[in-house]
Amino acid sequence: MSSVDKQLDELKAEVEEQIPNDITVSDVKYEGPELVLYTPDPKRFASDGDLIRTLASRFRKRITVRPDPTALTQTDAAAEKIRSIIPAEANVTDLDFHHDTGEVVIEAAKPGMVIGRHGSTLREITKEVGWTPEVVRTPPIESSTVSNVRNFLKQEREDRRDILERVGRQIHREQLSREEWVRISTLGCCREVGRASFVLSTADTRILIDCGDKPGAEGEVPYLQVPEALGSGANSIDAVVLTHAHLDHSALVPLLFKYGYDGPIYCTEPTRDLMGLLQLDYLDVAVKEGRTPPYESEMVRETIKHTIPIEYGDVTDIAPDIKLTFHNAGHILGSAVSHFHIGDGMYNVAFSGDIHYDDTRLFNGAVNDFPRVETLVMESTYGGRNDYQTDQEDSEQNLIEIINETYEKGGKIVIPAFAVGRSQEIMLVLEEAMRSGKIPSMPVHLDGMIWEATAIHTTYPEYLRDDLRDRIFHEDKNPFLADEFNHIDAGEEERQEVADGDQCIILSTSGMVTGGPIMSWLRHIGPDPDSRLVFVGYQAQGTLGRRIQNGWDEIPINDRNGNGGRNNTLSLKMDVATVDGFSGHADRQGLMNFVRTMNPRPEKVLCVHGDERSVQDLSSALYHKFNMRTFAPKNLETFRFK
Ligand SMILES: [Zn+2]
Repeated sequence: MSSVDKQLDELKAEVEEQIPNDITVSDVKYEGPELVLYTPDPKRFASDGDLIRTLASRFRKRITVRPDPTALTQTDAAAEKIRSIIPAEANVTDLDFHHDTGEVVIEAAKPGMVIGRHGSTLREITKEVGWTPEVVRTPPIESSTVSNVRNFLKQEREDRRDILERVGRQIHREQLSREEWVRISTLGCCREVGRASFVLSTADTRILIDCGDKPGAEGEVPYLQVPEALGSGANSIDAVVLTHAHLDHSALVPLLFKYGYDGPIYCTEPTRDLMGLLQLDYLDVAVKEGRTPPYESEMVRETIKHTIPIEYGDVTDIAPDIKLTFHNAGHILGSAVSHFHIGDGMYNVAFSGDIHYDDTRLFNGAVNDFPRVETLVMESTYGGRNDYQTDQEDSEQNLIEIINETYEKGGKIVIPAFAVGRSQEIMLVLEEAMRSGKIPSMPVHLDGMIWEATAIHTTYPEYLRDDLRDRIFHEDKNPFLADEFNHIDAGEEERQEVADGDQCIILSTSGMVTGGPIMSWLRHIGPDPDSRLVFVGYQAQGTLGRRIQNGWDEIPINDRNGNGGRNNTLSLKMDVATVDGFSGHADRQGLMNFVRTMNPRPEKVLCVHGDERSVQDLSSALYHKFNMRTFAPKNLETFRFK
């Protein structure tokens, strides 16, 4: 008998000892990090509200109770009963019964009303019908990504259960080594921005943190082939942890599956969905640019299938000796500062991922409060001594003035923006400015992936800043549903119409004018001297966006409307402006504040994810200011911490 089976037998016996005599437990299983109890008496289990909580705290595990198939009410009768228990205002849009696990997935516009106070409505449901309810939100804006991911996971349920069971046994396997050490190896994004990837290893476990590409340098991938990563076999890694969905952190995760990796991906739910959207787009772009993508879309599906979502604040076992907790990072939707508790109090490491320290309109500032942390691995994008950003308030004022000036001249405003994050931040600024009369009300057209990314944001309001979340909960106050916003979904024809029409604002990808519908907008509106092109995000060296910022006004453009696809140039007559300060990253002050106010303050800091000057500057400033040991590692270095 394997050690895991023995462990489960013992757990079963202990559970039986803890619960009232007349409740039976038929089976005990691990599914991923969770302990699942099967019982023919789900209703009895549910009627004691504290029972599961008591067991969870006793075993220090996440516990789920599922009905034995014998205990299940017919689905028709159950559906009727469930609908009668849930208040009508919750607006249930789908009930999906799964006989294999006894779960019923309830999709509702207001999940909170399905859950009830402290889960009382959920317990009521189980008490009445025996099924275990699981609640998901109906996206307030229809999102094809969210529905594709949900349908795919539904289809792959059986496979997924096998994966979860296997991962569960892996997590709870016997710890073999009694040696205590912790190492971090750097596989990328050291003294550079891009290809984020690290290995955190102990005597028993190896965790890969992030696996990104390097935008603009597609051949430069993380050093995955070193012995501590894939070099000793794709499955010598126990788990992958993703801090957020940006491609410089997530693009190459599917590549791991191509190499034969078969383990779990831990990330937040929004990161899972955004990652799927961005990875598929990454493949599209590669094909359009004539490159051979490093993997196929099938591998993106494998990635989604192996994802185990974790919420902020949930302490989760991911290996026999490692517990992972995600905390809000304030950077993009679902972005997470990842905290690893290693051994039984032996050591603690936090990976910042990308962070924004101050509150923005979209997010609360990054969390830097932990029970313990000895080493911090932190981003340093704007860590240079002069990397200060304009206050967002001033930036907003600046943008508003530009819009008003352009409006008065009768022109249009074109804003190239990244689909995820910056676009939604700008949408919130515009919505408020119109509502409060700071700018005239006018249509705001959203082109490219912006609409889809916005829909994903509204599906997960729990991950947004608290006051924004509360507004989204009330449909009539959801700022993303404002009448002014229009999804460009009819292609060129619609763009032509908008270009021929009245004053308006256009938000379009790509953010650095490297392709996408923004090229079309430049063709349509570029020749109009009364209109304005406004940059609100960082323009990397070598991108068309940067060149235009620097004064280029003859733009090479692929004219698809004739001329046999010949390259033409377009004379840009529209005004060009830049508004700084809408960054998703903390600036130098923010990074320093993140460490200064961190509780507890770490002993050691590794400064990564920044160019050479930024990491050196930040590392030296942290050392001098806070008297801590700091490093600016290179790629392929290994640090031993214990
Ligand atoms: Zn990022």
